[in-house]
Amino acid sequence: MATVFERIIRGEIPSVRLYEDPLCLAILDINPVKKGHSLVICKEPLATIEDVPDATLGHMMGVVKLIDRRLRAVLGCDATNIVINNGEAAGQAVPQLHIHIIPRYKTEDKRPPIPHEKYSDGEMAALGARLRLGQEEGA
Ligand code: AMP
Repeated sequence: MATVFERIIRGEIPSVRLYEDPLCLAILDINPVKKGHSLVICKEPLATIEDVPDATLGHMMGVVKLIDRRLRAVLGCDATNIVINNGEAAGQAVPQLHIHIIPRYKTEDKRPPIPHEKYSDGEMAALGARLRLGQEEGA
């Protein structure tokens, strides 16, 4: 079944479009965290960063930069949260890769509403050793 974003791209569902090119579409999010909350959507219906070619991801980040600049210029926001919910367990509701750009202001709480965890003794170094790039099998 087509995702809501495929239907938006095809023009079957209305949207407020900010930018479009052959690889991506930028629109306003219909349920904004802050007014101006924008989405840069991959036109190919691929769900996660693992699925999307690096060149497309890089291109989309360039578009994110343009939207970020525009939000700052037009809304006067001081910063943005740039978020990818990369998979269902991370809260991704629409399985078509999209990057959220959320305007933020100095006057409001800047922390994301996710409770933090604490490492036990030695756990952080051990996890770092397991996650360090270049040491994985076959690298
Ligand atoms: P995610 O949870 O990362 O998959 O985010 C999906 C986002 O798409 C949510 O922030 C929704 O508010 C937004 N969304 C869903 N339907 C529409 C729509 N028709 N137009 C604009 N944004 C939408």
